[in-house]
Amino acid sequence: MINRRSFLRKTMLLSALLGVKNVFSALPFGASRRQNTGSSKEGPIVLSTWDFGKEANLEALSTMEKGGNALDAVEAGVRIVEADPTNSSVGYGGLPDRDGKVTLDACIMDADGSCGGVCFLEDIMHPISVARKVMENTPHVLLAGEGARQFALSQGFPKENMLTPKAKEAWKDWKKERIYQTEINRERHDTIGMVAMDANGRLAGACTTSGLSFKLRGRVGDSPIIGAGLFVDGEVGAAAATGLGEAVLKTAGTFLVVELMRQGMSPAEACEEAIMRIVRKQQYRDFQVGFLALNIAGAHGAFSIHPGFTYSLSKNGKHEVFTADSFLKGEK
Ligand code: ASP
Repeated sequence: MINRRSFLRKTMLLSALLGVKNVFSALPFGASRRQNTGSSKEGPIVLSTWDFGKEANLEALSTMEKGGNALDAVEAGVRIVEADPTNSSVGYGGLPDRDGKVTLDACIMDADGSCGGVCFLEDIMHPISVARKVMENTPHVLLAGEGARQFALSQGFPKENMLTPKAKEAWKDWKKERIYQTEINRERHDTIGMVAMDANGRLAGACTTSGLSFKLRGRVGDSPIIGAGLFVDGEVGAAAATGLGEAVLKTAGTFLVVELMRQGMSPAEACEEAIMRIVRKQQYRDFQVGFLALNIAGAHGAFSIHPGFTYSLSKNGKHEVFTADSFLKGEK
């Protein structure tokens, strides 16, 4: 078995033979051991899914203006959407599962690879902040269901009824026919995925959702899963996903986007290639997936399967909503 010492000895020997001065400079691009939590000074930049991301971006920026870092910013930003009762697929106001219960998924990730998440969480308004507590106050990455709820309560989060009267009505309507489809109406995708870079070039990301409306009880999508709904690598970039979680999980979507950037692709190219993996392997016509990404040079990109994936960008004092380029150009 190859142990660390023999690996190092062999690597040194090889580099001596190759005349390489610095062992690690012989590693492929991006494989440096240096723990870089940001080298660009392009920030602050905030990029988030959908047009309602604009409000969240403003909060993220104001958090950075007050001295918060990128991690503080993404947490504060997505909390705005979690608390918005008019948003039917994130936090309070989110549509429930088929049993009428609102269950929430979220994760957060920092530039150095630290991360935390919660899934199948009930009765708590801000799953993203619970995810951060998982990251900072436990040795774990992901807590689920009743365990996550108990943890949240123990950390001082109040127990709250997350089912709004409007969401309850929508569930009662749905119960009349009980049509269970994994297809997501594109207009009702409301997961917020946010990636940000602060003025020191440090990256972070957050992702939070109530998931697929009227889902099977216990269903968890991509949003709380590191590498699926969200991935951040401070040496390369960050990516977030929205859309049908099952499709994103099957391709480890945001991990793929970040790895493609590591290999030299621009954020836009990486998002497009990750969408093409889904298009090549899955029945993509019935569902939407959108990726967005930001690299450490401050460049951003996005791409989706169907047209209509909007994203919000705050950069250089401007706050804009764009529609991502898509694989399909018209209605399916
Ligand atoms: N990705 C979310 C999920 O599958 C839903 C969405 O973005 O609309 O849970």
